[in-house]
Amino acid sequence: MTIDVDLDEVLEEIAEVARPAAAQGKVAPYLRSAADLDPDSFAFAVVEMDGTEHVTGDVDVPFAIQSMSKVFSLVLAMQKAETAEGVGHELWRRVGREPSGDPFNSLVQLEHERGIPRNPMINAGALVVDDVLTDHCEDAPASMIELASALAGGTVGIDEAVVEAEGRSGHRNKAMAYLMSSFGNLTHVVDDVIETYTRQCAVTMTTRQLARAVRFLANDGVDPATGEVILSAPLARRVAAVMLTCGTYDSAGEFAFDVGIPCKSGVAGGIMGLLPEEAGVCVWSPPLEESGNSVAGHVALRELTTRLDSSVF
Ligand code: GLN
Repeated sequence: MTIDVDLDEVLEEIAEVARPAAAQGKVAPYLRSAADLDPDSFAFAVVEMDGTEHVTGDVDVPFAIQSMSKVFSLVLAMQKAETAEGVGHELWRRVGREPSGDPFNSLVQLEHERGIPRNPMINAGALVVDDVLTDHCEDAPASMIELASALAGGTVGIDEAVVEAEGRSGHRNKAMAYLMSSFGNLTHVVDDVIETYTRQCAVTMTTRQLARAVRFLANDGVDPATGEVILSAPLARRVAAVMLTCGTYDSAGEFAFDVGIPCKSGVAGGIMGLLPEEAGVCVWSPPLEESGNSVAGHVALRELTTRLDSSVF
């Protein structure tokens, strides 16, 4: 695929089709910032490898990246732990690579599978990634913010109100962490791991920044803005594979079927994705479907990959 249409026009047309779909979803109850709670927030950005940006809507409004942070934490863990065997690192003995088919905060599977989470894109898997990061980083959330800022070409923030609210309400995450500790799959103090996870979910970025930041995964692991190798090509491919198969929770099959590109969603309504060798993409609309993915975001991505004929399949 090469992008040979007027993308600015295409994005405007898609926004018109996608925006009304938001009415079918519900905003997640535990969000805090006004932007994250506004069901009418909508933004869509496509950033090409040469830096050309196509945008529509509220693309410069920051919102909590929530579960999209799981991509950055996984990348950081793979960076820190890259070995000659590449993917053979201890991380992959402690977390799987299979879609869960269960909600992102489910405890049931974890009990059956002896504390080994299905994949790093669900909460339990992200907690294991954070446990690994604690071994390698002095301040894991700060390292994630540094990575995200470098990739986004600008400073990204953190919403302390979200940290506080989720710190108080994250009972299921704590339950998962204790359960995994009981199986020996969490080595650090639960409160420390939870703190890292809570802070990474509260990182705020704009739609434009996220579309820029994800591009290296569409470019064999090299940030096209700086030429910096973020991950080796084989590892970048693995991250994209996990996004495709697990990045939208138990709607991952539906997204593969309908959208057909690696993507990762968050409960504030963002979904970032990649058009291999072409562009980074991000869409944001807070109302969610039952699995926790943005309804209008799903429609927008489906329209984009259909119009550009850019499904990877
Ligand atoms: N902070 C949210 C949680 O832990 C993130 C989940 C998500 O975006 N799916 O429940």
